Amino acid sequence: MGLIVQKFGGTSVADLDRIRNVAKRVARTFDQGNDVVVILSAMAGVTDNLIRMANQVTESPDKRELDVLLATGEQTTAALLAMTLRAMNYAAESILGHQAKVVTDCAFGNARILDIGADPIRALVQDRKIVVMAGFQGCDINGNITTLGRGGSDTSAVAIAAAIKADICEIYTDVDGIYTTDPNICPRARKMARISYDEMLEMASLGAKVLQIRSVEFAKKYNVPVHVRSSFSDEEGTMVVNEEASMEKLLVSGVTCDKNQARITLKKVPDQPGVAAKVFSPVSEAGIIIDMIIQNMRSGGQTDLTFTVPETDFKQAMAIAEQVATDIGAEEVLGDQNIAKVSVIGVGMKNHSGVAAKMFATLASENINIRLISTSEIRISCVVTEKYAELAVRVLHSAFGLDKP
Ligand code: ADP
Ligand code: ASP
Ligand code: MG
Repeated sequence: MGLIVQKFGGTSVADLDRIRNVAKRVARTFDQGNDVVVILSAMAGVTDNLIRMANQVTESPDKRELDVLLATGEQTTAALLAMTLRAMNYAAESILGHQAKVVTDCAFGNARILDIGADPIRALVQDRKIVVMAGFQGCDINGNITTLGRGGSDTSAVAIAAAIKADICEIYTDVDGIYTTDPNICPRARKMARISYDEMLEMASLGAKVLQIRSVEFAKKYNVPVHVRSSFSDEEGTMVVNEEASMEKLLVSGVTCDKNQARITLKKVPDQPGVAAKVFSPVSEAGIIIDMIIQNMRSGGQTDLTFTVPETDFKQAMAIAEQVATDIGAEEVLGDQNIAKVSVIGVGMKNHSGVAAKMFATLASENINIRLISTSEIRISCVVTEKYAELAVRVLHSAFGLDKP
């Protein structure tokens, strides 16, 4: 008997039949004598649809109101699952982010959880209720509804699991575990039985959306065991855990692809001290995270400055770059949204050379042009044209010996 958090993603609650399936699984876990807290996403496609509608109403929807709108997706599924369970004679109760005291900062659309008051959920659990909580949402100290960024229900689940000291946090999704690369891109991807928090952090930060990065940060900080598994089968999935001595230190253990990337280039920027600060300060003040930066020397005291931002921030970043370009006297600003970042990851890379060379040679063998490169101790990333990204993933996965037999 234990205290189990079960999170179900959008495809797992995509329609009423699937919600019934979720209810059955939750009921089974409860009948085995466990206390169960369920965290739900919105039905598949609903969040995208709400965003689309907001963009039809106005070109730049107010961020506070957008969060009020987006939070309805998770409110719907929480109520429907609680009703379904009650109709099956289980004492279930839905709870929204603010009722569960999920306190966040004020960054609408991408809020961070600051604190979770565990008492409301604990009180329900003590009454032997099945708690059904709306994921993805919280509330700031002024009582405004906030959302946690795309994929944020993963973070709701792990944060709740940490707050109520659950024995395990199960993430039910549409794949049966964490693979060496996205199995929907590469059919030869291999399922991993276990992965360390650190490796999963790296994979999540480089585009493996199976877990939102902040959920892995929470899991690592509070030592929450996370089990990623399929909501359509009973097969064991992948455990995300602390690094164990027995874990294999592969040279390359995973390949990721992030299509949510865009490139901005300021051409013919005066090559003077302070110029980079003038370009990047307003971008970071707008809360936009810059990933790669490259500066190319030109003759005549000028440089070209290129950087990448999440594609979702492209419009805003372009507007800022155009303003700065005028202020500092740069010639023009070019933007490109059709790029993707492909990365190879592995802790074993720390003490080996040759991975970068092999990655470049592999991409060259398929005639894939590398636009930008960045490296860290345990990963190498190349920006390529978006339409070649999936091919790049497959050839790299194969070249580094990760293909399943
Ligand atoms: P959910 O709606 O359940 O939260 P997501 O779509 O957010 O599901 O995440 C699951 C998806 O993550 C999978 O369908 C798969 O395409 C993608 N994915 C990317 N990289 C990986 C990986 N390394 N292992 C498993 N899935 C991955
Ligand atoms: N519904 C939100 C999204 O689509 C949150 C989530 O599913 O985790 O991003
Ligand atoms: Mg997700």
